[in-house]
Amino acid sequence: MSPLIIIGSGLAGFTLAREWRKLDPATPLHIFTCDDGEFYSKPMLSNAIAGGKSAAQLATKTATQMAQELNAEISAHTEISAIHPDRHSIGVNGQEIAYSRLVLAQGADPIRLPLRGNGADAVLSVNNLDDYTHFRAALEGKKRVAVLGGGLIGCEFANDLLAGGFSVDVIDPGTRPLSTLLPAEASLKLQEALGKQGVSWHFGVKADAVEHSGNALQLKLSDGSTLDADVVLSAIGLRSRTALAAAAGITINRGIVVDNQLKTSAPDIYAIGDCAEAQGKVLLFVMPLMQQARTLAKVLAGTEAELSYPAMPVVIKTPAYPITVCPPPIGSEGSWKVESTPQGVRALFLDGADRLHGFALTEQTTSEKNNLVLQLEKA
Ligand SMILES: Cc1cc2nc3c(=O)[nH]c(=O)nc-3n(C[C@H](O)[C@H](O)[C@H](O)COP(=O)(O)OP(=O)(O)OC[C@H]3O[C@@H](n4cnc5c(N)ncnc54)[C@H](O)[C@@H]3O)c2cc1C
Repeated sequence: MSPLIIIGSGLAGFTLAREWRKLDPATPLHIFTCDDGEFYSKPMLSNAIAGGKSAAQLATKTATQMAQELNAEISAHTEISAIHPDRHSIGVNGQEIAYSRLVLAQGADPIRLPLRGNGADAVLSVNNLDDYTHFRAALEGKKRVAVLGGGLIGCEFANDLLAGGFSVDVIDPGTRPLSTLLPAEASLKLQEALGKQGVSWHFGVKADAVEHSGNALQLKLSDGSTLDADVVLSAIGLRSRTALAAAAGITINRGIVVDNQLKTSAPDIYAIGDCAEAQGKVLLFVMPLMQQARTLAKVLAGTEAELSYPAMPVVIKTPAYPITVCPPPIGSEGSWKVESTPQGVRALFLDGADRLHGFALTEQTTSEKNNLVLQLEKA
């Protein structure tokens, strides 16, 4: 019997495999991955430098342990180069391998800025354990880090690098950190808190070019100024990996388009995690992929199931200024009602009938999260 094939050994691929194995312990399962097939929690990548953690310490299980646990074959360092939906097969190393059903859990690629200059290739991004190893090696013996992007990942790295003793510059064309997730009051408090600890913010400018300058790098910013750094980290966002699906004629939009059973437009092919667009949204967080994996496991086991999302708060890993945010769904009608209290900022996104659609809590008010989640679920 042809196996169920999963492409990807990130949280999406492994969570699906675990959930499915609870329902179907025996059907052959084969996981292909460009990585080395270890299990790790990707969110750890942006708060591990200060603690001096190596990639080996972040990986909690080897590929062999995962294969045993999942009763699966895992092919590490193996890139799938084609999908043939008409023949129910994938292309790998010049061969074709048949699947009974295929799950795309391919994740997302860091967006690369079109930077000029002879140092552009030295700009790093961190999206897997190998990138993290490379980043740590680049930091060895260095002091100054420039972070491109003041969103969630940029702010988390900035806080972690500060705590690790580095000096940090953050460059962002917007006007404040985490501008897409937080109302202005909460953003500005985060800016202030990280600023007090040493982050130098550069808002309203873009990095245009990176040049080598001795052993260091020099950034040329869009306002004509320059900035010296030893290491440049790009954290400007991620884009779903859709090329393989697109080449196979599978419908894509911003991600690989799936229905509420996680089915793509091709028979017996499914998609989950950062590469998937479900309910019109690509949600690049852990909680959505857990919901998707649980739903798809049931679908694959022949049980009726439909994707639905509970409230999904995100804890932002900036210990200098703790934040928990549950952004309102895109297109929600309403506005932020913001209170700045001695315990922190409490921001509620309310509609005209005062129903709650999202929230942002900072410092001690983060303890109100569970209560607000209940209110969201009632709304
Ligand atoms: C630094 C950082 C911090 C984060 N922090 C948080 C957080 O605090 N909270 C939160 O909710 N989310 C956070 N996220 C987002 C979260 O980690 C991701 O949404 C999640 O890990 C994505 O998992 P995935 O399995 O979809 O993708 P990935 O982990 O990217 O896995 C994709 C897999 O597909 C494989 N693959 C791709 N193409 C092929 C191919 N052609 N052939 C073979 N294999 C292939 C890759 O090798 C990889 O194994 C963070 C992300 C980053 C980068």
